[in-house]
Amino acid sequence: MVQDEDVTRGFFVMYGESIKTLQDELAAVLGLALARGFLFRFGFKTGHVTAREMGLQGQGKEVIDYLTEIWIEMGLARPTEIVNNKNGLKITLEETLESSYDGDKGCDFTRGFVGGLISSISNVPHYCVEKECVSRGADRCVFVVTEEERK
Ligand SMILES: [Zn+2]
Repeated sequence: MVQDEDVTRGFFVMYGESIKTLQDELAAVLGLALARGFLFRFGFKTGHVTAREMGLQGQGKEVIDYLTEIWIEMGLARPTEIVNNKNGLKITLEETLESSYDGDKGCDFTRGFVGGLISSISNVPHYCVEKECVSRGADRCVFVVTEEERK
């Protein structure tokens, strides 16, 4: 099916448990590695579409302001710190919907969502890595976003 990029499709609301259930089901069917890649890609595209549909565009502090606003509206997690330093944009989140104490999983949808959202807002491709995760024993999830190197 060919999708028209200019068509607005609205949104729908799911219970927070849905993203964790999707993560568990994908891991059971595809295996953990494929499930994590799928969730990252799904998150990235969702972040991109969210910024586009909301008409969010900006640079620097505007990106951080939009990011804060989106977190409040989306309910994916509770942001406790967003700082921009020489290593990139560091985002600390608590109570992410994906994280659990299961062990080897991470917040891949959230990681993708952040990368896609910031890439779309700034119109510059960005990477997002999850440096610490509740699922790996940390007390919060920490993401670092950096500009993708241009080749
Ligand atoms: Zn996490």
